[in-house]
Amino acid sequence: TPRVGVLALQGDFREHLLVLRELGADAVPVRRESELDQVAGLVIPGGESTVMDKLCRLYGLRDPLRGRIAAGMPVYGTCAGLIMLADRITDAIDGQETLGGLDVTVQRNAFGNQNDSFETDLDIPELGEAPVHAVFIRAPAVSDLGDGTTALAALEDGRVVAVEQGNLLGTSFHPEVTDDYRFHERFLERVRAA
Ligand code: GLN
Repeated sequence: TPRVGVLALQGDFREHLLVLRELGADAVPVRRESELDQVAGLVIPGGESTVMDKLCRLYGLRDPLRGRIAAGMPVYGTCAGLIMLADRITDAIDGQETLGGLDVTVQRNAFGNQNDSFETDLDIPELGEAPVHAVFIRAPAVSDLGDGTTALAALEDGRVVAVEQGNLLGTSFHPEVTDDYRFHERFLERVRAA
């Protein structure tokens, strides 16, 4: 497998590096453009998307990241990473921008205060028969899915929490804190195929 990166400006990038390495990938943290140039795929971790956006600008990574996404680099975003990949967010504060690429709208902190962290099992036929145990932490929800997108998973209330479009993959939840790495495997398959 070609080298892959994890955007390491903020958030739980260490967990993703460990998962990718456990799957046999050559995985490195990405903080500069020169490091981005050397990876064939990227994971954008969970964290705080408003902060991640600011740091992307500060580190001069926003335009290079947008360029690589437009050029078809496989990217997997979890939680704040999914927000970064969304073309539209409903509640941008402080001039927050995303990188975009996924033709969806994302609502940040969609599950409110009371229920802002929870776990549930999701059926995701594309990943096989065993349900995926999904951990949600102040998670976003996906709506207004464009024509080219596929909803991979939804909660019982219908809200979409995993989405795919071409080489872009996003989940509202955090597989990197469980021991089920099927989403990371799917990402690495995309990288090998790209
Ligand atoms: N609520 C966070 C945000 O808006 C995301 C939380 C997470 O990544 N676990 O960026």
